[in-house]
Amino acid sequence: MPTPLKVHTIAVNSRAAKRLRGGHPWVYRSDLSEKTAGAIPAASLVHVTDERGKLLGSALASSSSQIALRMISEQAIEDEQLPQLVRERIAKAAAYRTKFVRESDAYRVVFSEADELPGTVVDRYNDVFTLQVLTQAMDRDDLRTSVVDALIEQFGKKINVVERSEPRIRQLEELPALESRALHGKKTSTTFAMNGLTFEFDAVSGQKSGAFLDQRENYAAAASYAHGEALDVFCYQGGFALHLARVCEKVTGVDSSRAALEVADQNATRNAGSFKSGEIEWIEANAFDLLRDYSAEGKQYDTIVLDPPAFAKSKRALSTAMRGYKELNLRALKMLRPGGILVTNSCSHHVSESDFCEMLTGAAVDANRRVKILEKRSQSKDHPVVATIPETGYLKCFVCYVD
Ligand code: SAH
Repeated sequence: MPTPLKVHTIAVNSRAAKRLRGGHPWVYRSDLSEKTAGAIPAASLVHVTDERGKLLGSALASSSSQIALRMISEQAIEDEQLPQLVRERIAKAAAYRTKFVRESDAYRVVFSEADELPGTVVDRYNDVFTLQVLTQAMDRDDLRTSVVDALIEQFGKKINVVERSEPRIRQLEELPALESRALHGKKTSTTFAMNGLTFEFDAVSGQKSGAFLDQRENYAAAASYAHGEALDVFCYQGGFALHLARVCEKVTGVDSSRAALEVADQNATRNAGSFKSGEIEWIEANAFDLLRDYSAEGKQYDTIVLDPPAFAKSKRALSTAMRGYKELNLRALKMLRPGGILVTNSCSHHVSESDFCEMLTGAAVDANRRVKILEKRSQSKDHPVVATIPETGYLKCFVCYVD
């Protein structure tokens, strides 16, 4: 019998204890004394107590992240119980998706803290599952194996599991470099279905791959209001554009990435049979320049989607980000015909729903358009927003009617 690993007990300050009791799973390095922080082995399981020694639960430690501990259980569990706990968490996460995912064989199966499995993200694209390991602890071989075993247990032996290496995160977590690779099965590319459309997926191709699964329900919502001539700005591989093509006469997708547009075009060919007119064009351009030029030329649309990348990567970047959102929304509002539909998104966690609303109000005033908010939407339900963990919610998607 191997000797069980000794589990360290870590006392956190009252601020951290209050946060943990409030259902938030993080202990920051600044919540620990230097001596305490220094004594925690990297990637280990620890027991967490308050200053008086009262148990708060068990956590996984990182020696490099500002988030020193991420809670994984309210109990004092032992190291050898971890693989079983991982399997239980994955079973629970999969059961939740069975309840809420409709019209798709592509969705997020495990969403890290939102599924009580910090540092683990699993996405399903039909028969290809991708695993992203985001913390030191989840990079442990035994835990990686238990994730793969649990996925096979839930979804059957025929699935393929590919680990997608995240070089930036591995560097931050001081983990050795790793190539993306197959962990189970051989297949790394496939096609998947979403709202009746088919998309291509390649887990290991050079370009950034993968779909924005968090937008799945918003694609369908956008299509339920869209009409006429549509412009999808920041279209990537055509998520919104292809949904719009089923109900619009003409669709133009704009993105600065040629590689993304090539996949968008392949996706369009694959789905041609389900389009209203099939008139789709892809334009490689900087969205800011293109919107400026188009609005100066007096171009008009009936439906415009704006889905830019996260402009506010930190709180400090917020005011610059808000200016960016406002410029895009202002130009889009000016270009919409009366009765037009604006689908406007922000995927920055640091931009709150009220910040976003305020930005839209400002743009409506400046454009002198009356904007009726039809729906204030968020991310698809397979990216659950946990009430006690605000960081799990990041996507805003407003669908607006513009007089
Ligand atoms: N709407 C897409 C996701 C958009 S992600 C979907 O649902 O799938 C953001 C996209 O913005 C990326 O494809 C990126 O290439 C593109 N992008 C980033 N900066 C840009 C810019 N200045 N102009 C045009 N596209 C840009």
